[in-house]
Amino acid sequence: MALPERWDLEVDVAVLGSGASATTAAILAADNGVEVALLERADFVGGTTALSGGVLWLPNNHHMAEAGIEDSREDALAYLDSLSLGMMDRDLVETLVDTGPEMLRYMEENTPVSLHVFEGYPDYHPENPGGKPEGGRSLDNDLFPFEELGPWAERINHQPDAIFFPATMLEIDTKRVDDVPPEVMAERRARDMRSTGQALAGSLIKGCLDREIPVHTATRARELVLDDGDAVVGVRAERDGADYFVKARKAVVIASGGFEWNEELVKAFLRGPMTAPTSTPENEGDGLLMAMGAGAALGNMSEAWWIPGIHVPGDEMRGRTFARLILAERTWPRSIIVNRQGKRFMNEAANYNAVGHAFHTFDPNTFEFINLPAWLIVDSLYQPPIARHNVGPDAPDWIRRADTLAELAAQIDVDAAGLEATVTRFNEGVARGEDPEFQRGVSAYDSYNGDSLQKAPFTTLGPIETPPYYAAQIESGALGTKGGPKTNEKAQVLRATGGVIPGLYAVGNAMAGVTAMVYGGAGGTLGPGMTFGYIAGINAAREPDHIA
Ligand SMILES: Cc1cc2nc3c(=O)[nH]c(=O)nc-3n(C[C@H](O)[C@H](O)[C@H](O)COP(=O)(O)OP(=O)(O)OC[C@H]3O[C@@H](n4cnc5c(N)ncnc54)[C@H](O)[C@@H]3O)c2cc1C
Repeated sequence: MALPERWDLEVDVAVLGSGASATTAAILAADNGVEVALLERADFVGGTTALSGGVLWLPNNHHMAEAGIEDSREDALAYLDSLSLGMMDRDLVETLVDTGPEMLRYMEENTPVSLHVFEGYPDYHPENPGGKPEGGRSLDNDLFPFEELGPWAERINHQPDAIFFPATMLEIDTKRVDDVPPEVMAERRARDMRSTGQALAGSLIKGCLDREIPVHTATRARELVLDDGDAVVGVRAERDGADYFVKARKAVVIASGGFEWNEELVKAFLRGPMTAPTSTPENEGDGLLMAMGAGAALGNMSEAWWIPGIHVPGDEMRGRTFARLILAERTWPRSIIVNRQGKRFMNEAANYNAVGHAFHTFDPNTFEFINLPAWLIVDSLYQPPIARHNVGPDAPDWIRRADTLAELAAQIDVDAAGLEATVTRFNEGVARGEDPEFQRGVSAYDSYNGDSLQKAPFTTLGPIETPPYYAAQIESGALGTKGGPKTNEKAQVLRATGGVIPGLYAVGNAMAGVTAMVYGGAGGTLGPGMTFGYIAGINAAREPDHIA
């Protein structure tokens, strides 16, 4: 849109969103000497970042070196090259690998952000060239005391039934939490110390508050304001039901997440069905629409950070039904996932993003996505909860139960003979300690979320043989989409007709994802998101004034 008659707020850099990429960009812009404001649509801050595991994937980071784990630029690039399928922009990948470690050091030295190596968490394709089967690139958050956030502690985004257990993911996964003395636990509770995405979002928001960066919540950015020369000079937002015009003398940074909650955009762009978004429901692609309106080139539009999800009746966040991601559920022994033919169609224990691609297999004869709907099938000795609900006599109705596989198949409209044959074949393989069809349990990754008391492949392989049997419907879901405006190495948005759009930056899930179809390892979205947030903040601050 053209210049408005009035401005309600004037800053140098306006950052849209308040997740990890937005707050990192805002902090860097402020540290480079300019006036910044965050505009956040929700009443809460932190976005999906605050709902997340908060893990960052950063190859060649200094915590690895301190822990004696070797890594190099060459290994990191070899790894990403091996997964590129010709779709990654090599310049952006190099920028990610080169700047990620610098970003981490900067954030740890200048903000409360503080992480440690997530010991033993393998890369998601650990056997690929340059992959790390022993982990090191994935970083877990230290605990962050929410008492330091004052009134903002109540305003960090969270799911309605969230429980904030004061232990790091590493402590929980390695069972070291059992060794934490009770008095230490009591102190952690007293200080409201939180882990995972809460720690990351909390420490980033604290970094913004320490710099007195104003955070305008309930302010939904809708349209970019362009000058005569098509430079971006501000934003039209909506606030209290009225237009709210924000002048951004130097730049606008779009960091408003993906478009996974916008059904029209999902249908228009994603490569196949995606019915189970797990992110914050405000992510409706406003940033994408704004960038399109300004003439941005788009990239990676068909991709998402795929993850299988389950809709549990009653799970709502701000009036929208969200899905729970499933991880241990499909990795633990005594579980498989089947399609309507009762057939398995993938290594269920593979990383969620790769597994997500298998939902989009298309049958030209029947003209169907043959692997949707899909069902998780387990037996009565299966141990982990399914989306927080245990199997057994008290299982809720949405977890179907039957004494025979044929009866279960009839309940869920799956071919009974197909299911019985699949289970027989799977169990025969398990008895030999192998999965000849899909090699489940072969990769180091397959064991990570399985039964750690067993040895691979029995960390993930176990027979489905003890009735009653249970089934839960699995949907094609996403942690977020990762298509959007294309950027250069400075995070400047490229114009569809060539060159850059002056004064416009895009980062995080709002930008065309740097790693194309791939999820490099745990933290594979937040590591790149913060790295390009860091780059955008620095470069936005260096822009000339595009408007007086
Ligand atoms: C359960 C779960 C666990 C996860 N664990 C991990 C993990 O451990 N590691 C990892 O790397 N990734 C993880 N992810 C994915 C990760 O959380 C996201 O990819 C990441 O947070 C995206 O960051 P972002 O800054 O781009 O967007 P977000 O954090 O989603 O922030 C976007 C913000 O923009 C706001 N917004 C939207 N529209 C507008 C508008 N018009 N105007 C102003 N503001 C707007 C939103 O309200 C939101 O606050 C997980 C996701 C989930 C759901």
